[in-house]
Amino acid sequence: MEARDQRALLKNEIAKRGLCSLSLSLNVPGFPKSNSTVKAFFSSCLRDLKYTLKASCIDIKADKAIEDCDRTGDFFIVPFTAVHLSLTGIKQIFEDFEEKHPLGRFIDVDLNDRQGNSVSSGKSKLCFFCREKPAIECRRENAHDFDALRSYMFSEMAVYCLKQKEELISKKISSLALKAILAEISLTPKPGLVDKFSCGSHADMNYQTFLNSTAAIAPLFGELIHEGFIFTRDDLTRALPVIRNIGLRMEASMYKATQNVNTQKGIIFLMGISLFACGKLFSQNDYFAIEEFRAIIKSICKDLVSKELGGLTHPAKSHGENIFLKYGYLGARGEAESGFSVVFDYGLPQLMATAELNDEAMTRCLLALAANNDDTNILYRSNPEVLNRFKGFCDKALKNFNEANYSEVIDFCKNENISPGGSADLLAVTIFVWLMINFDQQTGFTHIF
Ligand SMILES: [Zn+2]
Repeated sequence: MEARDQRALLKNEIAKRGLCSLSLSLNVPGFPKSNSTVKAFFSSCLRDLKYTLKASCIDIKADKAIEDCDRTGDFFIVPFTAVHLSLTGIKQIFEDFEEKHPLGRFIDVDLNDRQGNSVSSGKSKLCFFCREKPAIECRRENAHDFDALRSYMFSEMAVYCLKQKEELISKKISSLALKAILAEISLTPKPGLVDKFSCGSHADMNYQTFLNSTAAIAPLFGELIHEGFIFTRDDLTRALPVIRNIGLRMEASMYKATQNVNTQKGIIFLMGISLFACGKLFSQNDYFAIEEFRAIIKSICKDLVSKELGGLTHPAKSHGENIFLKYGYLGARGEAESGFSVVFDYGLPQLMATAELNDEAMTRCLLALAANNDDTNILYRSNPEVLNRFKGFCDKALKNFNEANYSEVIDFCKNENISPGGSADLLAVTIFVWLMINFDQQTGFTHIF
């Protein structure tokens, strides 16, 4: 039996049961009608169509659906009920779907009534290639060369699918970054830092301030990833001004949301570089390659310390610069230039030991980071001697993890009025990396589309 007759038979079988049916197919001229690009595009259309149907209260009988690919190409057919809609109303929904879709001219969503007859609106579609004459006319006259039509269509579909994939990956990465930042803020109790129940050693901010500023900076995560995706220069140090440009806008949003309190300047810098690096990584990879991620960060921040801290003179413009001039510590710039060595050497191994994020794993991770990080936030409020004592308490609490030892760290911060904000930022980055690794292992970025 011809493939076309086979489809007509399917529609009639559904009609025999007294149900309407809808089908999705693509207008691919010539043969073969399917390949990997067409299939990816078809799946994406089908996914979008199913949401449209559900949103319009068109109830498809999913267990009776047939999705197949034969000589006439990829197709999907399913019986449905829609109690509150007329056939004309349903046809209109399908036409709107085709019209709204950027490549709707390649798509056919057909409607068959309870007798199995095709319901047409009588409107003719324009030819997708010349966009001058009705498609049916161009087809009848064989107006265009099949090979030209096909290569045009496949390249449009490929570009569309790539863009869709970038969007899906970007949304996933953004959501993991947001989750990491919220997980760090919410971890309670924390030494000297703002948590759910305490402001730590801070008088001007609390948990709510952090929620406000996180909500203010998160909308720009996607932009950072996108810039990484489209960055094609060989010299990655040229990416830094691009990242800073977005970072400065995030800082402005942060200050607005917090009435001028600096809650997250550190994480804006570190997460900014991380998100850009992810975009760059996924423009050339389908999975989260850790060493490549680190290599990209190192390349972006190559010579950052010598360029920005070398030759620095008083007065310093920022806390980080001030600490460098006073004691020579490199701060977040040094950590970034090393490709997050404290994160990968000390923080991540603590989280990798756990199958799911929990307070104990994150607390151990924070201690491991703090025991090995020359935190400029601590130095800003004290001196290297206090920093070293703090690192010693963290080390002790990590090696012998119990409530008494952890309380000792918390009490020390309280007494010295210090807060390991730099280590908290590194904790958020470590959680982010852990989330990326776990998502990749469990779901796989390859299967996101
Ligand atoms: Zn035409």
